[in-house]
Amino acid sequence: MSAPRQRLVVLGATGSIGVNTLDVVARHPERFEVLALSAQHKVEQLAEQCRRFSPRFAVVGSDEAATTLTGMLRQSMTDTVVLVGVEALEGIASLPEADTVMAAIVGAAGLRPTLAAAKAGKKVLLANKEALVMAGPVFMREIIRNGATLLPIDSEHNAIYQSLPKEYSSNLSDNGVRRILLTASGGPFRQMPLEKLEQVTPEQACAHPNWVMGRKISVDSATMMNKGLEVIEAHWLFNAPSERIEVVIHPQSIVHSMVEYADGSVIAQLGNPDMRTPIAYALAYPERIEAGVTPLDLWRIGRLDFERPDVARFPCLRLAYEALERGGNAPAVLNAANEIAVEAFLGGRLPFTRIHMVIEQTLACVTWGEIDTLADVLAADAAGREAARQFAAGLHA
Ligand code: NAD
Ligand code: MG
Repeated sequence: MSAPRQRLVVLGATGSIGVNTLDVVARHPERFEVLALSAQHKVEQLAEQCRRFSPRFAVVGSDEAATTLTGMLRQSMTDTVVLVGVEALEGIASLPEADTVMAAIVGAAGLRPTLAAAKAGKKVLLANKEALVMAGPVFMREIIRNGATLLPIDSEHNAIYQSLPKEYSSNLSDNGVRRILLTASGGPFRQMPLEKLEQVTPEQACAHPNWVMGRKISVDSATMMNKGLEVIEAHWLFNAPSERIEVVIHPQSIVHSMVEYADGSVIAQLGNPDMRTPIAYALAYPERIEAGVTPLDLWRIGRLDFERPDVARFPCLRLAYEALERGGNAPAVLNAANEIAVEAFLGGRLPFTRIHMVIEQTLACVTWGEIDTLADVLAADAAGREAARQFAAGLHA
């Protein structure tokens, strides 16, 4: 008899990670069954996904979107039940029948459903790094308390996971690990003259040299706040102090990250920059499955380069390290301020070079506090957003 299919919920199904996840799933219909999907606005795309994967539930962000989706599904005789809002997202993330939850909503909006999946003891595939950055201690406690499995989708953390010993004890020293080397492409502005950064447009910032991603993470890659968030993410995932996490610029994005051991060994994971690799790894873990990824052609690539990050060019990276060292609510405030600043930049209301100023001012003005409960996280997030909105308005173009 064949093994039962893995029952999957995809939060953020219409995004870049969501679409790549469904691409891998579609290659293995004998392994995976889609139980529920979610999207905020893109109703047409979600309707198409529902017709293709016949989930039991689909969750959208507004009543209007729900009415449109219901109409579209009725026309095509698809009997997916349409639900609305954050509680419905928490509901699908904790469905008793679900085995696995892909957490691929972007930003703080993903926190509550991702936490619900942890509380329900699911296999959580974490793309939504902001949830972990904001709520590190709360999130990790729920994962452990409820026997959930946490597998990183972020390509760097997935690479580190693959490069750590199988029986990883969540203590770097016990495993002879000296450092985690987090690679970063440096984004589209790695070599742009500094005086030109003031004028860059959202389109330029979103044109990443190696990866096609959602707009928010693309801007984060351009400021390198993405790498800053990933340093904090690595801290929580691997129980690593900040001084053991080093960022290495690697413009080709072939080495996805590395682990350095006490004996001098450095173990890396390589591959073409295609998110279907970490997604397939986590979906099938501990097995390996075909993901549609072009094999790595080292002869064509020819060379791999490595540099130190330029902290003058990328002040957001420094701010993230500082927030991690301060601990408590500082990472949640950093994340909130970044989301507001990026939104303002994408909306043409803030120059690129002032994104870091909004974040720095916000961190300086919000009172430090401990993070022990979800309420603490939400309070820090709200305070960060409020302060950042004011600073962003003051630093208007
Ligand atoms: P995206 O913008 O392409 O997609 C975001 C998804 O979240 C969409 O389905 C959207 O409908 C949904 N969404 C947006 N706002 C929402 C809200 N308020 N409530 C509920 N749902 C909402 O983003 P993406 O690039 O797929 O990134 C998703 C997450 O994965 C982010 O946290 C990002 O940092 C992380 N990630 C992405 C990549 C990548 O290659 N795209 C790589 C590593 C990590
Ligand atoms: Mg990444």
